[in-house]
Amino acid sequence: MIGAGILRGMAVTGRNFLGSYFEKDRLTTVQYPEERTPLPENSRNFPFLVFDGDEAQAGLRCVACQICEKECPPQCIYIVKSKDKKPDYVGKPQFYPATFDIDISVCMSCQICVEVCPFEAIKMDKVFELSRRERFDALLMKKSDLAKSNAYYHGIHPREADVVDASLAAAAAAKKKPTAAPAATS
Ligand code: SF4
Ligand code: SF4
Repeated sequence: MIGAGILRGMAVTGRNFLGSYFEKDRLTTVQYPEERTPLPENSRNFPFLVFDGDEAQAGLRCVACQICEKECPPQCIYIVKSKDKKPDYVGKPQFYPATFDIDISVCMSCQICVEVCPFEAIKMDKVFELSRRERFDALLMKKSDLAKSNAYYHGIHPREADVVDASLAAAAAAKKKPTAAPAATS
């Protein structure tokens, strides 16, 4: 019958319109910002720097190797490596980034910095409400803006963070394992 498809479509619309007064599941409009739809685990926006322990500066995993700075396609990462070393959160002396900036107005959220980092030090955040009124450096994120705890990382990417923790623990255990003494020669 001509127009049957249109009538079926109108029936679906009518059912959902009326049903939305009785069943919350039929509502597709979210009253943002009062209501928020939870983001999926794999959603990503811009990078942040992970720190362990309670103190951001001591616990930053980043050792300023600058690999991410070199690999970032639009070159929006700027790092200055420290001249000295400081104890990390377990007391081991490490270089650290004296400066670590990301211009997120340029960042294209490609995640290459995360993939090339050998130290699990940089991960993708889910924060998206970052609009600013100012035109110039308001979106230039400094080290202090970028540093977020491992607990925060677990909160936004729980499964991924568990895998990272397990691999870091395995690497630490392998380092501690005593190497076998060479066999004595006669
Ligand atoms: S996500 Fe991509 S563009 Fe953004 S800082 Fe990392 S490498 Fe650069
Ligand atoms: S975030 Fe990773 S790759 Fe980038 S400088 Fe720090 S340790 Fe190196």
